[in-house]
Amino acid sequence: MPTKPRKQKRCLICSTEFQPMSSLHVVCSFGCSIKLLDRDKERRRLAAERNDRKATRKALDRIKTKSQRMKEAQAAFNRFIRLRDAGQPCISCGRFHDGQNHAGHYRTTKAAPELRFDERNVNLQCAPCNNHLSGNIVEYRRGLLAKFGQATVDQIEGPHDPKHYTIDDLIEIKRGYAKRARELTKGEE
Ligand SMILES: [Zn+2]
Ligand SMILES: [Zn+2]
Repeated sequence: MPTKPRKQKRCLICSTEFQPMSSLHVVCSFGCSIKLLDRDKERRRLAAERNDRKATRKALDRIKTKSQRMKEAQAAFNRFIRLRDAGQPCISCGRFHDGQNHAGHYRTTKAAPELRFDERNVNLQCAPCNNHLSGNIVEYRRGLLAKFGQATVDQIEGPHDPKHYTIDDLIEIKRGYAKRARELTKGEE
């Protein structure tokens, strides 16, 4: 009994039309079937490589130390402060500085670690004041008074409860300030 001939197919590898023997038959020749095997092997290899890289990234992320998390959170916070104060003069010397500007802590992270993420305690400061004048602290205080008023300066200078950050806190701080930085730069591109 003659069976209905199958429809012509295009070879997956070389696109030549051929007469398939079965529905699983997808290449025109032995040569193309070898190429197909090689191609699938290469695809599997690339997929495995991608998975490896992803797993490595995840593993590295998991073993980040608390101090790395702290650094990342502080960097995100400082960047936000620089964007918030962009276009403003240095909090200490009042100059508009062409060169680098920093996020300068009034009370240093060493002296008052509980204020390391306090948005009033950290303001745009020119590199010379920040680096060479140890924060130019007397002038910084004058700038703080002008910007926030006496009550805030009293609060910053007053006693504080110590703060303890968990790794999750630090991840959250980094994420939050990265988001606020994005909001500030929106529409600038
Ligand atoms: Zn072929
Ligand atoms: Zn300055």
